[in-house]
Amino acid sequence: MIRLHDTLTREKRPFVPFNPQRITMYVCGPTVYGRAHIGNARPAVVFDTLARLIRHEFGPKSLVYARNVTDVDDKIIAAAHKEGVDPSMITARYEQYYLEDMGALGVNSPDIAPHATEEIPAMVAMIERLIEHGNAYEAQGHVLFSVPSDPDYGVLSKRDREAMVAGARVEVAPYKRDPADFVLWKPSGEGVIGWDSPWGRGRPGWHVECSAMIERHLGETIDIHGGGLDLIFPHHENEIAQSRCAHGGLPLARYWVHNGFVDMGSEKMSKSLGNIVTPAELLEQGHKGETLRLALLSAHYRQPLAWTGDLIAQTKAVLDRWYRALGDIEPGKRDLEPFWEALRDDLNTPKAIAVINECLGEVSEDFEHFQGSREELLASASAAARALGVLAMSKEEWFQGGGDSKAIEAKIAERAEAKRSRDFATADRIRDELAGRGVTIEDSATGTTWHR
Ligand SMILES: [Zn+2]
Repeated sequence: MIRLHDTLTREKRPFVPFNPQRITMYVCGPTVYGRAHIGNARPAVVFDTLARLIRHEFGPKSLVYARNVTDVDDKIIAAAHKEGVDPSMITARYEQYYLEDMGALGVNSPDIAPHATEEIPAMVAMIERLIEHGNAYEAQGHVLFSVPSDPDYGVLSKRDREAMVAGARVEVAPYKRDPADFVLWKPSGEGVIGWDSPWGRGRPGWHVECSAMIERHLGETIDIHGGGLDLIFPHHENEIAQSRCAHGGLPLARYWVHNGFVDMGSEKMSKSLGNIVTPAELLEQGHKGETLRLALLSAHYRQPLAWTGDLIAQTKAVLDRWYRALGDIEPGKRDLEPFWEALRDDLNTPKAIAVINECLGEVSEDFEHFQGSREELLASASAAARALGVLAMSKEEWFQGGGDSKAIEAKIAERAEAKRSRDFATADRIRDELAGRGVTIEDSATGTTWHR
């Protein structure tokens, strides 16, 4: 039985999905206008690991995991304006980078990746319903959600009204009936990306994107809604209000799961503070994606994680040890129970990592009850390590620094052949595989070059 900490009830609860054959999970994805940093990578890695656990417990086809792409946003519009290009140029570029960076960290693609710009009719329909129900109103080309119309508003963040108004960093807007009201639709001026709607040409607010996409792809009530701690208010509070009011009071999610921040020194890593480190630059420096992934899993997901050079070095030492002991060992079919027990307990990855380390020790007292030989124990540990999304390379590749040049050249030749025969899926897979080893390839008119 998996147990998850639910932010809504503030307690760890047994995870009982509504339909174990179709478990639904939605995680708020990237707004694609800049390169992802390590803090952005944490939810991607955490929820990828949770997805692996759910599939282990309920079956490989039990889970539908959706992670959206926010590809219309004021920051995107500003970035496009600065470069003098169409917003779609910015979003295509940074979405591709995002997928490459997360691929390098061993993050599997979600089952569904809805894009906001492709879901406008669903958003318009939801806004119309909210207006009909008396939960939203039009004012000067805007549509606003009326916070006082929802007596349960604030249920997730448990903030009092003053804190909510202050926390929402509400801009002075004369068309708002209440300072806490938030935007569902806003007008787009000439030359700004927009869509026709009953309220004129405009674009959706960020919060309604997620509510509409969840409804369309996963249903009215989902099992797990995830994201970073910073999304609890106002984003997830607003998602809850919109969805509940649009769906006659049905809850949006049965479990709310939030990961903690990545800290640099005493501050949260964030673009606005300018203290970010990106997976791209760490890979460029020669660190491997698996090291960054395991470092992100080294603290419990709800705790803050201090990102330091020491953390990277210590994690690499752990992986060196794992590769030496387990790299060549075929994963066994028998579960390493204490490892899975740790993950079932609110995804306790530090404990799960410790269990694998204990298996490799000289005296593994904790495993006296393991009915089987030392070889069988190591085979189960090998499977456990792979379930964390590491040990994907051969031992040789790992110790050669991510693959020798000949192997890389061979892969690039294989990719060129795939491209010639128009097998782009294979070509992309090879590129992602190389990215996973920290190898970036660049195509030009004269051929393909690569660097680490
Ligand atoms: Zn969201």
